[in-house]
Amino acid sequence: MLNVVLFGPPGAGKGTQSERLKKKYELVHISTGDVFRSLDPNSNLAKLANSYSAKGNLVPDDITIQILEEEVSKFPQANGVIYDGFPRTEAQAKALDEFLKAKGTKVTMMISLVVPEEELKRRLILRAESSGRKDDADINIIQNRINTYNNSTAPVADFYKKQGKLIEINGVGGIDDITTRIFNEIDLLKN
Ligand code: ADP
Repeated sequence: MLNVVLFGPPGAGKGTQSERLKKKYELVHISTGDVFRSLDPNSNLAKLANSYSAKGNLVPDDITIQILEEEVSKFPQANGVIYDGFPRTEAQAKALDEFLKAKGTKVTMMISLVVPEEELKRRLILRAESSGRKDDADINIIQNRINTYNNSTAPVADFYKKQGKLIEINGVGGIDDITTRIFNEIDLLKN
């Protein structure tokens, strides 16, 4: 199985690049952010998740890990999975390792998209016009998401670095160019 953790701050281009990776390598794309947004808004789970995400804070690990595992379990025949927006804490990374180990597989690599903060803000403000996402429309919430990334999520890269699985990619440039950079890294590892 090809299990790719696609990593990077909000606005790094994880969703855009996931669509391309998914097609090329026939992978299942799981975005925890998308899963939270697709919950029935009247359900208790959606209300709970939204009470965190609306402010740009992380949803607690126990809920997020459960949601992720349920989602992965929907695709028992998958060739591989792109994990987009998960893991975002070290506890989530450990849980993913355990979960995959029990299935007889493991994370193949973490691809981390590196983009400077000013560029992230510019992209998110632009995205708000089409995404309709309230967390993109408010600069204070954007700043909080970036701070949360820097404080709680960025250390997750070290977790994979220690395992020799971290690949950093320049996330600035044309979308196609960035896709090519990612494909090249995956092909190097696959072949
Ligand atoms: P972005 O990467 O653009 O910030 P996402 O769509 O990945 O946005 O996630 C939106 C929100 O969903 C996050 O701000 C957070 O509140 C919540 N969320 C998504 N994934 C996780 C996760 N792995 N752990 C905790 N919260 C998460």
